[in-house]
Amino acid sequence: MLEHKVNKRTSELSDINQKLERKIEEKSIIESELRDAHERISNALDSLRHHKFALDQHAIVGVADVKGKILYANDQFCAISGFSREELIGNDHRILNSGTHTKEFFREMYRTIASGAVWHGELCNRSKDGNLYWVATTIVPYLNSDRKPTEYISMRTDITARKKAEEDLRVAAVAFDTSDAIMITDSKANIVRVNKAFQKITGYSEEEVLGRNPRFMKSGRHPDDFYSDMWVRIKEIGYWSGDVWDKRKNGEIYPKRMSISAVKNADGAITEYVATFNDNTAQKKAEEEIHSLAFYDPLTSLPNRRLLIDRLRHALKISSRSHQYGALILLDMDKFKSLNDTMGHDYGDLMLIEVAERLQSVVREADTVSRLGGDEFVVLLEDLGAEQDGARNSAAQISEKIRSRLSAPYLLREYLHHSSSSVGVTLFHRDECPMDDLVKQADMAMYQAKESGRNTTRFFDPSMQEAVEHRALLELGLRSAISENQLSLHYQIQVSRDHRALGGEVLLRWNHPDFGMVSPAKFIPIAEESALIIEIGEWVLAGACKQLGTWKRDGKYEKMTLSVNVSAKQFLQKDFVSIITTLINANNISPSSLKLELTEGVALEDVDTVISKMQELSTVGVQLSLDDFGTGYSSLSYLSKLPLHQIKIDQSFIRNQATNSKDSLMIRTIINLASNFKLDVIAEGVETDNQLSFLRQFGCNAYQGYLFGKPVPFDEFENLLNQYGESTSIQ
Ligand code: C2E
Ligand code: MG
Ligand code: MG
Repeated sequence: MLEHKVNKRTSELSDINQKLERKIEEKSIIESELRDAHERISNALDSLRHHKFALDQHAIVGVADVKGKILYANDQFCAISGFSREELIGNDHRILNSGTHTKEFFREMYRTIASGAVWHGELCNRSKDGNLYWVATTIVPYLNSDRKPTEYISMRTDITARKKAEEDLRVAAVAFDTSDAIMITDSKANIVRVNKAFQKITGYSEEEVLGRNPRFMKSGRHPDDFYSDMWVRIKEIGYWSGDVWDKRKNGEIYPKRMSISAVKNADGAITEYVATFNDNTAQKKAEEEIHSLAFYDPLTSLPNRRLLIDRLRHALKISSRSHQYGALILLDMDKFKSLNDTMGHDYGDLMLIEVAERLQSVVREADTVSRLGGDEFVVLLEDLGAEQDGARNSAAQISEKIRSRLSAPYLLREYLHHSSSSVGVTLFHRDECPMDDLVKQADMAMYQAKESGRNTTRFFDPSMQEAVEHRALLELGLRSAISENQLSLHYQIQVSRDHRALGGEVLLRWNHPDFGMVSPAKFIPIAEESALIIEIGEWVLAGACKQLGTWKRDGKYEKMTLSVNVSAKQFLQKDFVSIITTLINANNISPSSLKLELTEGVALEDVDTVISKMQELSTVGVQLSLDDFGTGYSSLSYLSKLPLHQIKIDQSFIRNQATNSKDSLMIRTIINLASNFKLDVIAEGVETDNQLSFLRQFGCNAYQGYLFGKPVPFDEFENLLNQYGESTSIQ
């Protein structure tokens, strides 16, 4: 039993001994293999040193076994990977995996090296700190005697910078072909490259534009300084961006948003300009549509309440600065509801469209016609002058025109509709009245118009309403003033330096049956607004010429002149010169005894026609005087062009001469001017001895004014002439 146990123990020991011996043997084999491996690696590296991939000191070299365990890494390998040699050796090479490459990529790589062939390629690895880097890699398998690979030697070059540049290029190439147009020019602004979007937007192919200056695409919509300002900015700060209108190849003009950048080289010199733009047409259109929906009435396309309020606010602001009056006219179509109710909304709409058109045809382009809603419209008038009376008259005239135009029948398809409007007017001046109140005033005035029986116009301010009505009555009365013998002529004497009579000015008087004597300052402007001034003016001229004819026949006052005021409208008549010559011949008078007084307003129309007409009259022998001189647009160039004989210093300067140094200076200036231009000069409105001596002192030698006589009927005038005696000199 003991023996059996000893034997068993002995055999177990011998087994262990045998295993131990085997292990020792194996260990020595492994050791020798490892020694071999190291030797082979050194040999391989040695041989590689002479190999065609000459390893310079920058090469990154690593060795791994067939399973991928890293056996060797040189300093550069450690540096680029960020791992220490201890961290690398013995580790799996997959710790460098970046996840960039596909499985197929690696499979192909292993297939190659496992077959004993050399693999070339570009690998993206991840460093210890997580950054990616690229290496151009050559993997050489080390083969044993059976031509089986036992290790892989990989040699790498850092190509991260090149890869980044390639990537940038690829991004740039993709970016270049975006939907935005890109145009690159050289430093002289000649096109060197354009992208597809450029060709699509402009309609020009690349060949058509290369080498050309982009100015051939200009639309002509921008002034030249738009482009020069743009270039100044690009040169100054290297960048410009803004909205530009350009022209496509097919001639179409389109809006674009454009940016231009200057590209500079290392020395700071501009080498290229890069312009990018897109076609803004659709966006502009959409913006316009949105704007139109927000600010315009879709039915009539007129500005809506919102835009009107905006314009009114603006108008008040402008008026504060310019002191010009404006007016707000609110109108409502009478009995519009019954049209809608009986004929339907279609007809109502047609009528509103027609009303909108008629309103627009009455006002000036700068005025605003808007629809408030329903059948209510508002007209905003601006720039009605700085005088309240004038503004009121203009507003009254325009609202009357509106009322009358809107009362004409409406042809709505087959249906003839009769309608009228009630019109309310209020004036505004500066920001004297808040905006909301103005709209209310116009509204109240419109209601008054409705209450007064519709189809009528009412001013908000009762005194204005009265003035408008008075004016309307004058206008009506003026039409029959001549036939009813209500007009007469008064004469005001004009005297020379030695207080002798030079003649007189003919001044019109109107004896109105209800209002008594009406001043010409009041009724002449009314007559001037209609053709009445022609008839009245001719009546005055005929009266003056008749008087001159009587004197001539009687051999009296041969050197005396009669001055007649002539309105611009009258003077601008085609046959004005022949009317004058006919009167001169018919009354057999000497043409130089007739003097025509014109105001500067005459030459505002068409200077050339006016000058040639004046020359014709001069040739005939008629004298020409410029009335109210100094109050209008008196300019030197104008004065030198007009063939005049006399200028008349306006009475406002004479009135204020003693108290206002500017006015006295003005008088002296006008006298000098007249003398330089070799023109006679006469002062009107002379009332005092002081005024007279001032005028005499500065060389004005003819006078008219209450100091010598007021405008009087002819008999009294003749008495005055006799009293003063005829002057020997002619003025
Ligand atoms: P005007 O041609 O400048 O006439 C001078 C005005 O000054 C006249 O006013 C005259 O009465 C007034 N006047 C003259 N001397 C004095 C004075 O010492 N002191 C003052 N305070 N006033 C003086 P009148 O007659 O009321 O005429 C006003 C304007 O009506 C005229 O200004 C003229 O522009 C226009 N007018 C008058 N008659 C006619 C006419 O037959 N045809 C046209 N187209 N206009 C006329
Ligand atoms: Mg006059
Ligand atoms: Mg005058």
